[in-house]
Amino acid sequence: MLNDEVRAFLSPGIRPMYVGGQWIHGDPGQTIDVVNPATEKVLTRVYCAGASLVNKAVSEANKAFEHNAPWRRMTPRERERILLTMADLIESSAETIAQLVTLENGKLFSQAFSSDAMGAAHTFRYFAGWATKLEGATLDSSINNKNAAGFAFTQREPVGVVAAIVPWNFPFSIAAWKVAPALAAGCTVILKPSEETPLSALVMAQLSKEAGLPDGVFNVLTGDGAHTGRMLTESKNIDKITFTGSTTTGKSIGQTAMTHMTGLSLELGGKSPAIVFADKAGERNTVKGVINGIFRNQGQVCVAGSRVYIEAKSYEKFVGDLKEEAEKMKLGNGFEKDIDLGPLVSATHLERVQGFIDRSISQGAKLVCGGKQMNRKGYFLPPTILETKDNHLEIVRQEVFGPVLVALPFHSLDEAIELANDNEMGLAATVWTSDIHNAFSLVKRLEAGVVFVNSPVRSDPNLPLGGFKESGLGSELGKSGVYAYTRIKSVNIAY
Ligand code: NDP
Repeated sequence: MLNDEVRAFLSPGIRPMYVGGQWIHGDPGQTIDVVNPATEKVLTRVYCAGASLVNKAVSEANKAFEHNAPWRRMTPRERERILLTMADLIESSAETIAQLVTLENGKLFSQAFSSDAMGAAHTFRYFAGWATKLEGATLDSSINNKNAAGFAFTQREPVGVVAAIVPWNFPFSIAAWKVAPALAAGCTVILKPSEETPLSALVMAQLSKEAGLPDGVFNVLTGDGAHTGRMLTESKNIDKITFTGSTTTGKSIGQTAMTHMTGLSLELGGKSPAIVFADKAGERNTVKGVINGIFRNQGQVCVAGSRVYIEAKSYEKFVGDLKEEAEKMKLGNGFEKDIDLGPLVSATHLERVQGFIDRSISQGAKLVCGGKQMNRKGYFLPPTILETKDNHLEIVRQEVFGPVLVALPFHSLDEAIELANDNEMGLAATVWTSDIHNAFSLVKRLEAGVVFVNSPVRSDPNLPLGGFKESGLGSELGKSGVYAYTRIKSVNIAY
């Protein structure tokens, strides 16, 4: 079932890292087991990069960014060509990438193929186009005196060396969201994948070499967050950190970044509401949309709609429909056919999610379905639905990052808005109604960086994604996603 490239990838030995255009081995005493969450078996091992390798990666990325380095001398069109080649190579290796993502993360192969592999190819292709479209402005200024003419303009420059720290939930596509725009802008990059899912990032390194990226422009350091990730973000020779992960880690990285005034983008957690009005509650499409919005990727999605507010007159029926749909979902190894959910990413994470469920029940939430780890090998938890009327329960307020949905009723538009906004996070929201007044009122008043009406949240390279409140700083994807890797220079010429 696994293809030859994947089998070769999993052959005995420790997988090297990619630094300065070379495959480099680390300290054999410092390695990390990569575990298949569906079988609990070790797939292979990677090195945990220590200080010397982190320093080497930082130094290679800086060297590749020097003024006369080949990368800096390339025209925007040449950068575009390399990114387009990367997109083609990702597409032709999509099966390999998806197999590795399913093995290391547990997600369904079909989703690894469409979201991670093909999603990344679309992202590279989209940002390839931006390499030739970055622009400044010509400006009227009042600086020059009457005896001299003046000409003022701004120009965009690449920000420099970028440290990209990515999580395990979409290991390949989230890496592409950062690597592709950073390269389009002309930066060099050091990617640190999560210790849970380092394998597909190494394929990205392999493809970058084939695509013709000069040595040192793109580097992959494997290792854990507490050591490798921390050392990388603490380096004073990094110009920008781009991070996706938990709000707690994001805040700590933010404080570190301030030590050297390192640039920063943070895409953090969410507790995104789905708001269902009675006029749409009876439709199968709404039930399936809310189900898909929370249970896709086992709920391990930053924009997952993890709390659903239902108009009171439809509440009971809609919760019953959600239960029916959730109980139909089949769990299995991500390579099996006709399954809806795979395992959670790790034993630690399963324990964390189970803890949220157990605490919520002891705090008064009612279990509608699911709720207990399955009695089989692998980290499987069935789709779980809870209900409560208390908007202050931990399960309603905190990101669980698992297949757990909590349902609450609302009685009016204003109450729905108040309940939805009553949270520290503000990443995404969905609204389910055909009433234009309700839809636009919510679009306007919801404190969320992304609002979808009558559809679960999906990503598109052209649609910026960024959180309000504690869900992040800055945004990625879209035009703002590439401009985030540039800095602006104001120029005034008196003549
Ligand atoms: P973390 O925020 O700890 O990890 C995310 C990434 O940051 C990983 O690559 C991790 O590496 C790295 N990292 C961790 N600590 C540091 C550090 N001090 N300096 C630099 N890099 C660091 O998330 P977890 O994986 O621990 O997951 C915990 C919770 O975070 C989840 O349950 C979920 O609630 C949330 N989360 C949200 C995500 C999102 O998309 N918004 C994605 C992932 C998690 P490593 O994994 O190797 O330790």
